[in-house]
Amino acid sequence: MTTDIIAPPTVGQTKNLIAGQWIDAQSGETFDTYSPSTGRAIARVASGDSNDINQAVTAARKAFESGPWPKMSARDRGKLLFKLADLIEENAQELAALEVLNNGKPISEVLAADIPLMISTFRYYAGWADKVYGETIPVDAPGYFCYTRKEPVGVCGQIIPWNFPMLMLTWKWAPALASGCTMVLKPAEQTPLTALRLGELAVEAGIPKGVINIVNGFGETAGDALVKHPGVDKIAFTGEYKTAQIIMANAAPTLKRLTFELGGKSPNVVFADADLNKAVAGAMAGIFFNQGEVCCAGSRLFIEEEIHDEFVSRFSDAADARKVGDPFDTSTEQGAQVSKEQFDKVMSYIELGKQEANCVAGGESVGDKGWFVRPTIFTNVQNDMRIAQEEIFGPVVSVIPFKDTNEVIEQSNTTIYGLAAAVWTRDISKAFRLSESMRAGTVWVNCYNTFDAGAPFGGYKYSGQGRECGKDALNNYLETKTVWVNTN
Ligand code: ADP
Repeated sequence: MTTDIIAPPTVGQTKNLIAGQWIDAQSGETFDTYSPSTGRAIARVASGDSNDINQAVTAARKAFESGPWPKMSARDRGKLLFKLADLIEENAQELAALEVLNNGKPISEVLAADIPLMISTFRYYAGWADKVYGETIPVDAPGYFCYTRKEPVGVCGQIIPWNFPMLMLTWKWAPALASGCTMVLKPAEQTPLTALRLGELAVEAGIPKGVINIVNGFGETAGDALVKHPGVDKIAFTGEYKTAQIIMANAAPTLKRLTFELGGKSPNVVFADADLNKAVAGAMAGIFFNQGEVCCAGSRLFIEEEIHDEFVSRFSDAADARKVGDPFDTSTEQGAQVSKEQFDKVMSYIELGKQEANCVAGGESVGDKGWFVRPTIFTNVQNDMRIAQEEIFGPVVSVIPFKDTNEVIEQSNTTIYGLAAAVWTRDISKAFRLSESMRAGTVWVNCYNTFDAGAPFGGYKYSGQGRECGKDALNNYLETKTVWVNTN
């Protein structure tokens, strides 16, 4: 494989975007943001609090109530989304490098996964903009004409995590824009930079001022203020379920609409009749993609007993061979964990795993700078162990052997989560049986981590509420108005 080292980008925008202006926090405060691959601070970013959130919500409210956005034809709104997609495509290399700098993920993955999905998501919802309409209802009242209108829900507060900063922004912005909403985005404090660059591109695309506002800051201050603000109609949140519980309680007094995309402990089930090469590759991608910082990571790997030893041997060879290191190197397969805090959390779970189970690959950090962790595999895991039940959010997988189909269905559903699940088999009956029985928002059959702008994504149980992507996500951003007209 040829190896190129991409030059790290220089950091540009660090201010907040409010009402079309790039401005410092009212308090003048900033916070450091880091490069996970070196552990060094790379920029100081405006640190918004409740005053900045209030200013941004006021701007979004004004843009919603009286700006050009609500009056613009849906087709013209769609054109602006197409334009933003084009600008992302034109600036893909620069955006990807900035994401790598601030998040630590490998450049090859950003260019192969995050960026193409972002572009297709903006184009997908650009296409929806002028296809959102109501119905006429045949009411049982002579002379009455009854119809519905689909109207934007209003001002949306969007709170996103650090694992896919640009893609999570896209999943929030694109359907909200297509629906005619205005918004205030609060990026994760670990990864504030790419949202600001995308904000610049949104301004360049011609999205009117106040429609998109971005306030960086911490969850407990800026995020909290956004959730509680009476001028916000809806919160779309991606992050930990424990944060969602706080958000749900804090949003209750103002009865905000809420959608959540939360964590997971997804079962990845391999039957003895599966294509083993594909299943091993799928298990690798399932858990180690994006350093394991993936809400739908296949972190519980159920292997049918008769192939267990062979599977584990091939899987651990593949894990040992995985290239972990400089995310700017195009041949790197796994980059750095996002922060010292996450690195410490993952390493403490690895220590716990060594007490509870057998470590057959990895189990250690890499290098003496940055926050790198070797792909780690535990065997002899039981489903009720902490490493099999708690979300680690790192490159750590629990292998659990199973004997029969009923047992694996029961065990795979024994979790508080329900985001995703996968099954590997050549037996179509088993594939359908598991697809129906597994309580998860997405089931992959003989594949893992496939995504599409049109395919709904979200969780059962503690993994979420509502769906992102697809037609489903549009409904999160729409109210239905019923109009009765007496023609008598
Ligand atoms: P993690 O612990 O992995 O960082 P979180 O769920 O805490 O995941 O963070 C996801 C997003 O939620 C971030 O943007 C963070 O700032 C925000 N956040 C954290 N706490 C709160 C809160 N109490 N209210 C609103 N947003 C919050």
